[in-house]
Amino acid sequence: MQKATRQQIKEHNTRLVLKTIYSQQQISRADIARSTRLTRTTVSDIVGDLINDGLLVEAGLGSSLGGKPPILLNIVDDSRQFGCVDLSNDEFQGALVNLRGTITKRIHVDSTDDSEKTSLDCLFKLVDSLIESATSPLVGIGIGSPGLIDTQNGIVRQAVNLGWKNLPLKSLLEERYGLPIYIANDSHVAALAEYTFGRKRQVANMAVIKVGPGVGAGIVVSGEIYYGDGFNAGEIGHIRVVEDGSQCMCGNFGCLETVSSTRAILRQARALPGRPASLSMEEIIQAYNAGDAEIQAIVNRAGHYLGIAIASLIGILDIHHIVISGSPICFGEPFLAAVREPVRNQVLSTMADAAEISCSSLGSDNVILGASALVLSLVYGLP
Ligand SMILES: [Zn+2]
Repeated sequence: MQKATRQQIKEHNTRLVLKTIYSQQQISRADIARSTRLTRTTVSDIVGDLINDGLLVEAGLGSSLGGKPPILLNIVDDSRQFGCVDLSNDEFQGALVNLRGTITKRIHVDSTDDSEKTSLDCLFKLVDSLIESATSPLVGIGIGSPGLIDTQNGIVRQAVNLGWKNLPLKSLLEERYGLPIYIANDSHVAALAEYTFGRKRQVANMAVIKVGPGVGAGIVVSGEIYYGDGFNAGEIGHIRVVEDGSQCMCGNFGCLETVSSTRAILRQARALPGRPASLSMEEIIQAYNAGDAEIQAIVNRAGHYLGIAIASLIGILDIHHIVISGSPICFGEPFLAAVREPVRNQVLSTMADAAEISCSSLGSDNVILGASALVLSLVYGLP
């Protein structure tokens, strides 16, 4: 094994100190030394550097145990910004996010507005505006994209809706902007958002089912995203759940996405007699909550098939925490009941009893916040 260089040791120690302050908030140099087991001199040097960089600030005095009261340190939440992009809907969403996941600016570009412009042109336009709007140093740009994404090399292997195949997005954007670019699958980053900022913050193992125009799962194992051998772990949207089902965009029949995606819900609802072709997801949510039986049947069927896919995940992974993320969370408890029902019937009762299926608290910001969590973890090793 190669010996770590002085630089590597310093980077490792700096991450350790930052992690300790980030999780504790308001902590003294002595307490950092105690908790990290680094020497006080090392901690003081690192803290000095971080204060000079503007990442830390001395924020008052702690209580004294006799002698001089200790100076408490805090992260400066707004000292850095991340440019975050969500490509999972027709309207591309962008935001500037601070170190604690607070969104300070939102920008969107409708990729269907101008048929002359390609998806890539729209993405450039979005990132241009993000960079122009930044009010503190931009650490990098995080992108959550649908499709098969080689996270390591930053290549979009296949994103059908965006018309991309083997697109070296990371190098394209890094060349254009001179900033570090981080890309991952939208469901994977949604899971990272849950792990970093959600109600299930730092639960070591969980599966996050992202339901939007597509359906995918992000799986967190021991606090890290499980990407799989080809970066496609959790690609549950194209598992067949309906025998003799309708044809999917992938070419196969009866995929989960043909019944449980928002696109499938919209398609079926608009096909109901007497319903407008312009019916929106918001209107479907309203109708569902107002007791519209036809809409409820479509939505609960979507929930039922999600439950079947979740049952398989529980059977394979024995994961207790399952979070549903995306607009169907607005259907609330009756929808969750439809999801839970097949889980009870399709896995051993002890495992079904231990499974806690809940809705995300992050709303439609799941991918934006996940993109910021991606940069936060790769650049600073946080949380
Ligand atoms: Zn499919």
